[in-house]
Formats: sequence, C-alpha cells, structure tokens
Amino acid sequence: MTDTTPQDRLHLKNRTKLVHAGRRPSEQHGFVNTPVYRGSTVLFPTLEDLSGRKARFSYATQGTPTTAALESAWTELSGAAGTVLAPSGLAAITLALLTAVKSGDHILVTDAVYRPSRIFCDTVLTRMGVETSYYDPAIGASIDSMIRPNTSVIFVETPGSQSFEVQDVPAIAALARAKGICTILDNTWATPLFFPPHARGADMAVEAGTKYLGGHSDLLIGLVSANPEWFPRLRATFDAFAMCAGPEDVFLSLRGLRTLDLRLREAQRQALDLARWLAARKEVVQVLHPAFPSCPGHSFWKRDFLGSSGLFSILLSPCSAAALAAMLDGLKLFGMGYSWGGFESLVIPFDCRTYRSATAWNPPGPALRFSVGLEDIEDLKADLDAGFERMRTAA
Ligand SMILES: *Cc1c(COP(=O)(O)O)cnc(C)c1O
Repeated sequence: MTDTTPQDRLHLKNRTKLVHAGRRPSEQHGFVNTPVYRGSTVLFPTLEDLSGRKARFSYATQGTPTTAALESAWTELSGAAGTVLAPSGLAAITLALLTAVKSGDHILVTDAVYRPSRIFCDTVLTRMGVETSYYDPAIGASIDSMIRPNTSVIFVETPGSQSFEVQDVPAIAALARAKGICTILDNTWATPLFFPPHARGADMAVEAGTKYLGGHSDLLIGLVSANPEWFPRLRATFDAFAMCAGPEDVFLSLRGLRTLDLRLREAQRQALDLARWLAARKEVVQVLHPAFPSCPGHSFWKRDFLGSSGLFSILLSPCSAAALAAMLDGLKLFGMGYSWGGFESLVIPFDCRTYRSATAWNPPGPALRFSVGLEDIEDLKADLDAGFERMRTAA
C-alpha cells in the first residue's frame, strides 16, 4: 500500500476522505499518523537551499508536517483551494475578516452572529474605520437594499448562534459575488460534512474546530478555508500575523478528524430524539432545531444541508428565575458551561435581548440551548424529566 494523494481521493466519499486525507505514512517510517512536530527552526543543508528556501518547510510559523496535514485534509473535505489554522475559532473569524476589509469599508453581519464575533466588529473593526451593519438573518436576497458602494463583506452564520435561524446562503452569496463582495461563513454548526461551504457560495468558511473537530472538550482550534479567488489573500494575511495553532491541538484535531463523521451522525440522531421528546412536553413552547418545521428558515435547511448536528435550543413557557435555577442546578448529567460539540451533554440558558440590534427577540419565557453528547438518550431524558419536576415544585 502506498500513500494516497488528493487526486486519488477526488472521487471518494467524505467518510473515506476522513480516514485517508492528511496522512503520508511513507514519510513517517510507515507509522499511520503524522506525529506532533514541535519546532521553530528548520535546517537547510546547503547555502543554495537556504537562499532559495528550497524546502517544503522553512520556518515553523509558516507550517510543519503536522499543520500541513490538517490544512490539506480540511481543504479536501471543504472543497476549498486552501486552509489556514488559527489558535481558536474566534481567532479564525478575525483572520477571515481582516483578510477582506480595509479602512473605510462597510460590512454586513447577521444579527444572530456568535456574540464574540460581534464584539470584534464593534471594537477592533470600528477602531480601524470599518463600519458594521447588522441584518435580520431571515433577510435572504433582500440584503441587496443594505449594500453600499463600500460594502466589502457579508458575514453569514447558519444556523444562528443560540437562536438557530437558517439563512438563505446561496441567495446572499450569489448577490455578493455579482457585486464583488466577499461572503464569509461561520460553518461551525454543520461542519463541511453537513454543509459544503464553498459549493453553497462562501468565499471563506470558518470552523471553530474546538467544537466537533476536536470533539472532546480538550482543545482550541480554528480553521479558515477559502476558494481559489480568496485563498492567496487569506494565506498572505495569515503569514503576516503568524497567528499559529498549537502543535498538540493540531495533532488532536487530526485524531478527531478520523471519527468526525461517526460522531456527528450520532450527535444528529441523539439531538433529534431529544428534541422530539422536548417538543412533546407542555413546558416547551417552541423547539429551535433546524430540522424541525418550527425553526425559522427550516426550508433552507431542507434544501441546502446534508444533516443536522447535536446543538439546538428550546423556548420554555414563563417561569420564575428560582424555578429555572431549581431545574438547572440539580441536573446530574447535563453540565452547564460554554462551548459545545464534545462527548458530554451541556445546557445553558441564553437571552439574545442583551445584544441583538437589528431584530427583536421576545420569547415567552426562558430559553435553553442544548449540546447533546454521547450518553444513553434515556438517561438524558430522565435527567431532564427530574429537572422539570423540580421546576414544577419550585413554582
Ligand atoms: C465556539 C464558536 C466560535 C469560537 O470558537 P472558539 O474556539 O471557542 O474561539 C465561533 N463560532 C461559533 C458558531 C461558535 O460556536
């Protein structure tokens, strides 16, 4: 058996690509995996090599065999021209934005964007002289009316963070392309397995690999893939910053990559089961899960996505803060904490009113976001059932 090449893998399914991409056993003495290369300096054997930088690697900020393995695998999986790695998902978002904006520009950002992305726009980009307008995630092609002569980026995130509105990405991207505007997509929820970002029109796609790629709540990493038009500029911006991911986190991401399809499909199955169970409860007013007709933009999910992952929200009927605390504080299996996509189930309450600026958010009562893990689903339901009982008792 010899190493397979990206060309060999072109016709293969994603599941097979996940197993083979980014591995060159012949370069690792036959060992299956690319190890953690630690380093700064790369030695050149001759003056000619040094002067011409005639080596695959020349300095570790620009790449190591470990980072190159993950970049190339992600590029294949995303259908991109190239990928760069960043030390966190948020760092990847800032890198994509800084690739596409200059002082004096205007950008359009979905009002359902991951909140730290909004903070970056409202602080650093504002300081750089870049103005941000937030738009309704349901806007679709009507975004045309918000485009100005100096609009350089449309930032989409689908489904929306916490509130799960699914966007009409192909319509927005087609419009952006016609006007020479860069479409940047935060694709963390679906991953390229459930939403092929560049085939749907994104120029650059960001993944917080901290979530499903890592999958074990033990690392931070971000990835930005780009189409042929944008990759040279993305790579040049990355090189200018040298904002590098840590070698251990890159290695763990490569390990996570091998089982990404398996874990994501199981997350999908578990989340659909739990969301159905929650939808049938009298305490639940609405389930915000893209695969449910009750989710805003569900028809776009049905048209454009290849699956749904393990993160969704619910809206509860009104209850006191004490009743909500009684429910959440007593949970034995659901942890309360930020991030998601790990093997363990999580729940957090959220309130979009604290930061939205373009759209109203008026739920009848509290809102909860679930990240469904790999526990037995009946155990998870029993944990929540006991929680609803505590809520009733406290009320
Ligand atoms: C978590 C998250 C990020 C940021 O990832 P970090 O690695 O935590 O910085 C970006 N976008 C979305 C949608 C996320 O959920």
